[in-house]
Amino acid sequence: MTQSGNRLRIAIVGYGTGGQAAALYLSADGHEVDVFERAPVLGPVGAGFLLQPVGLLVLQELGVLPGALAHGAVIRRLYGENAAGRPVMDMRYGELDQRLFGLGMQRGALFSLLDAAWQEGRSVHCGIDIVDVDSERGSLIAADGCVHDGYDLVVVADGAASRLRSKIGRPVLDQPYPWGAQWCLVEQGDWVAANELRQRYVAARRMAGMLPVGTRPGDPVPRMSFFWSMPADRLQDDAVAGNWRDDLENLWPQAAQRLAATVIPHGLLPARYRDVVHAQWSRGRAVLLGDAAHAMSPQLGQGVNMALLDARGLRDALRARSNIGAALSDYQAARRHHLRAYHFWSRWLTPLFQSEHDLAAKFRDLAFHPMSRLPGGRGQMLRILSGTRRGWFGRFALPADFLNVLSEFGTYADNRMSPAYNASLDQVSE
Ligand SMILES: Cc1cc2nc3c(=O)[nH]c(=O)nc-3n(C[C@H](O)[C@H](O)[C@H](O)COP(=O)(O)OP(=O)(O)OC[C@H]3O[C@@H](n4cnc5c(N)ncnc54)[C@H](O)[C@@H]3O)c2cc1C
Repeated sequence: MTQSGNRLRIAIVGYGTGGQAAALYLSADGHEVDVFERAPVLGPVGAGFLLQPVGLLVLQELGVLPGALAHGAVIRRLYGENAAGRPVMDMRYGELDQRLFGLGMQRGALFSLLDAAWQEGRSVHCGIDIVDVDSERGSLIAADGCVHDGYDLVVVADGAASRLRSKIGRPVLDQPYPWGAQWCLVEQGDWVAANELRQRYVAARRMAGMLPVGTRPGDPVPRMSFFWSMPADRLQDDAVAGNWRDDLENLWPQAAQRLAATVIPHGLLPARYRDVVHAQWSRGRAVLLGDAAHAMSPQLGQGVNMALLDARGLRDALRARSNIGAALSDYQAARRHHLRAYHFWSRWLTPLFQSEHDLAAKFRDLAFHPMSRLPGGRGQMLRILSGTRRGWFGRFALPADFLNVLSEFGTYADNRMSPAYNASLDQVSE
């Protein structure tokens, strides 16, 4: 409900993470919510990702944290080295707070958990491609010409390549990154770094990554997300794409071995990113949320987390105001303030890891790791990583009860992983 107790009719365009979280929050607040998703059949598309503590806080509020922890993989460290074995990045959540960790998840797992959590008032219309929004009337126009109208609020959550964002206002910036990635899911098996995101680089021209992402409902096999960076204009080039196994063997034999055991029927799948900045997130009754409002490169692993926080921020703003226009301005102000530093750093860091700038990569190899060990620098980087930096200098406080839940689960997960614990389990079962 809004502050004056009004129940709004709300349309959400897009049932990605941002749209799903917004549907859950707004529906739970008593609003009537309709989702329009262009995919004909519901299901997640895309690689695994890393959820940060701030994203996990949102999942706790939405009631899906236990399921996420049960399926995800606890990530305690982000470690990257160049081809000569020199550390370039080595960041541990525990250096900020022993209770913190990231959670690697399969997109399918998070999608299913959020989808199953929306029971009461659930209304998802699939296979409807929305091509226009009338922000004054609160109506949507679908590709088949159907008009869906009478909404008090339209939430545009149609992702990084949003076609609807220009209906809200001209973006200040909306451009594709020149580099993207190919990816696949691979069985975790006996991979040594079960609690780490690992990356390996050749200058900034090659980047390979392995992120444990756990299991998903209906599939108990723990998996990892494999990433292979390349220029966006070569992503679809089968000849180039087909060579990746040889290249990987040279760069990272252990990863190549893990992949050799995996059947990849359709080859690696392409992923592109955009850099989007909007001065104006709302117009009339329509508002942007998630990547539609602020797409960024995944270099900092923040997009899903920011989409989840947007949904929470929109719920809070609608609760606090009875006037929708005022609520949307508050929502934009609060979210842009939090996002500013992430957008800046992801834009600044991406060419150091994905480009042909060999000099910049040399600087990265020499300076990045030592800088991150400086007392001030390390704290700053860890706050950005965990999503708990707000603006340039502020902090996003995580509640103590949430930190305790993380701490308890982290201890349980560590014990589950430790050889001594596993041996004791074997003894019990003998
Ligand atoms: C390779 C890669 C790795 C990433 N890794 C991470 C990570 O580790 N951590 C992290 O936090 N983030 C990561 N991200 C970013 C993250 O995936 C996005 O920020 C996040 O998915 C954004 O959510 P969203 O709901 O805004 O958009 P999306 O998840 O893209 O959802 C948009 C939805 O809208 C639907 N849609 C689109 N157009 C229409 C239309 N016209 N009508 C109806 N429906 C429509 C789409 O079908 C889709 O379901 C990564 C991204 C990439 C590409």
